Amino acid sequence: MGITHYNPVLCNGCGICIEDCPMDVFQRDPATGKARLVYPGDCWECLLCEFDCPTKALEVSPAAVRPLFYPYPMPQDTGHGPQS
Ligand code: SF4
Ligand code: SF4
Repeated sequence: MGITHYNPVLCNGCGICIEDCPMDVFQRDPATGKARLVYPGDCWECLLCEFDCPTKALEVSPAAVRPLFYPYPMPQDTGHGPQS
């Protein structure tokens, strides 16, 4: 889902989201000085921009919150570990 809401009226142009975003989703609009979404499809929902935006101008899909730990299946124990 990515960014579900951006309110340019609330944006104060602080640039935090531009600095935060690892995917360069935002750029500064030269006309307004505010953030502009240029690559919203690249958002991988890390939530940094939403957490750090001081004016709550951004919302990222809560459905995209990812677990800190992925329970990948462990490889089968082959019995060839360190010998005692
Ligand atoms: S962090 Fe929020 S207020 Fe600051 S530029 Fe981005 S959208 Fe605007
Ligand atoms: S949630 Fe993360 S990847 Fe998506 S726009 Fe915000 S900072 Fe960028």
